[in-house]
Amino acid sequence: ACRSSRKTMSTTGGCLYKDPNAPVEARVKDLLSRMTLEEKLAQMIQLDRVVADSYFLRDLAVGSVLSTGGSAPFENALASDWADMVDGFQKLALESRLGISILYGADAVHGNNCVYGATVFPHNVGLGATRDADLVKRIGVATALEVRASGIQYTFAPCVAVSRDPRWGRCYESYSEDTNIVRKMTSIVAGLQGQPPEGHPHGYPFIAGRNNIVACAKHFVGDGGTHRGLNEGNTMLSYEDLERIHMAPYLDCIAQGVGTIMASYSSWNGSKLHTDRFLLTEVLKDKLGFKGFVISDWEALNRLSEPLGSNYRRCVASAVNAGIDMVMVGRKYNQFVEDIISLAKSGEIPTSRINDAVERILRVKFIAGLFEYPFADRSLLGTVGCKLHRNLAQEAVRKSLVLLKNGKESNKPFLPLDKNAKKILVAGTHADNLGYQCGGWTIAWYGLGGRITIGTTILDAVRKAVGEKTEIVFEEYPSPETLSGHDFSYAIVAVGESPYAEFTGDNAELVIPMGGRDILSLVSDRVPTLAIVVSGRPLVVEPHILEKTDALVAAWLPGTEGDGITDVIFGDHDFKGQLPVTWFKEVKQLPMNHGENNEYDPLFPFGFGLTYE
Ligand code: BGC
Repeated sequence: ACRSSRKTMSTTGGCLYKDPNAPVEARVKDLLSRMTLEEKLAQMIQLDRVVADSYFLRDLAVGSVLSTGGSAPFENALASDWADMVDGFQKLALESRLGISILYGADAVHGNNCVYGATVFPHNVGLGATRDADLVKRIGVATALEVRASGIQYTFAPCVAVSRDPRWGRCYESYSEDTNIVRKMTSIVAGLQGQPPEGHPHGYPFIAGRNNIVACAKHFVGDGGTHRGLNEGNTMLSYEDLERIHMAPYLDCIAQGVGTIMASYSSWNGSKLHTDRFLLTEVLKDKLGFKGFVISDWEALNRLSEPLGSNYRRCVASAVNAGIDMVMVGRKYNQFVEDIISLAKSGEIPTSRINDAVERILRVKFIAGLFEYPFADRSLLGTVGCKLHRNLAQEAVRKSLVLLKNGKESNKPFLPLDKNAKKILVAGTHADNLGYQCGGWTIAWYGLGGRITIGTTILDAVRKAVGEKTEIVFEEYPSPETLSGHDFSYAIVAVGESPYAEFTGDNAELVIPMGGRDILSLVSDRVPTLAIVVSGRPLVVEPHILEKTDALVAAWLPGTEGDGITDVIFGDHDFKGQLPVTWFKEVKQLPMNHGENNEYDPLFPFGFGLTYE
């Protein structure tokens, strides 16, 4: 029977767990005591939204639903459409026997990037170049608002990987090769979740209120240190080095009350993280004192090494017993339900482990206010892609740009460009491509090209920035006739990588693709040229290209606000960015990290960045 104070009886039906004034831990205990074994196990499931129907949400009462890679309900779905979708799932969850809200998760990793019209901020590598922890925190605040507006309460961010090798396809999701910079940038957690008050208990999750979302530090641990930068590969390090280089940022996230931590697909000295009880339980939960929940990566239990990998039931036992609390089950959802029930009934997964996992999940749900405000807050819809947030993104772009070269030897500086020049050529594959500017994890998992959302390309921004009398000629691949038939003052050429995500971005060559080198070479032979590299990582810049270009700027993956680039190249603002990763000369030098290589001979060293002053 429900025991609660008379005062709250009417609103809570006498159930302590429904009482918003009761202490969180008391609510957790009360709810747990009412749950059947099946209900507990269901809380440990995070289901793909495409299969989330009334059976899973109302009858089984799963704990969480996700849009993997941010998959939208339909093409160009707006924040309000997302809110309708998530609320629909929530309604079903609230009809379940105990009425436990679901936690809806998505990869909002550089703004609410899955949602059409949202502000898309620079990817982490660019934010690492800013070295600006306060800026990153403000981006967290803005992102939380835009995410909440769309009904989502949980983001799989930040990625606090320390990327040691640019061949890794997720290099751009990492703030830096340098642990201290990644540590600094964990300020985003306090932006997303809210800043915990002084004296907040260590390791205990903190989510301030209805304008905040649950964060997820990922991927624990060593994802950025794999051999040859292979995605999901093996990180071979002593425990001391793993702790010093890759684990340190988690200490900061835990200290800030991060709600969840995602395990990495990768291995540590051959041991898959998802079944590493030492790291997940003894280190993360016991030693570091993390009290939130550990979530698996997408279908990670299907990807365990042989001989375990061939037996899904044993994979489930091994991962949950190692310390995974919630499982992103992916396509094996039916199998997972069957296996985890049988494992719990047979005692292969002990009851104490299940109770611990469910307590952690419920704790985060209560702290996130999901029982008090389970539905989307539509009064926040106006924040999605609002001017204020776009200005913030523009500021971030501005501060993230790294000036690598300005002027040819002994000549005067080439930048800033003149807004009133007679005729400017804008060229290159990345000059007028919003999708390329945004990179992976934007609208689609691996990203897309073209006008994929609302925003400003480099070309749009140049057109806005220049004087009335300035003529702009745009050609992606300029023809020799164009080049010889005009009297250009100079050219702005933007080249770089097309979008990718995860393993699709693993690359052992790292050359400027899609003819980018040829365009640069062709144009810079004839016109004084500013080269802008739009990429998730350093790329090979051959000596002859470097020599011919008059100025070189690394723009990373700046997102929707191209105006941040014109702010700087036309001199309204100075360059502030410093390389967050070493710019190598040739791939055979990799891996090359500052302070770690005996022969450190980069093209531009870590921390490099010119200014106008
Ligand atoms: C990625 C995670 C991501 C998850 C959900 C996985 O493939 O490794 O970073 O959060 O998918 O989309």
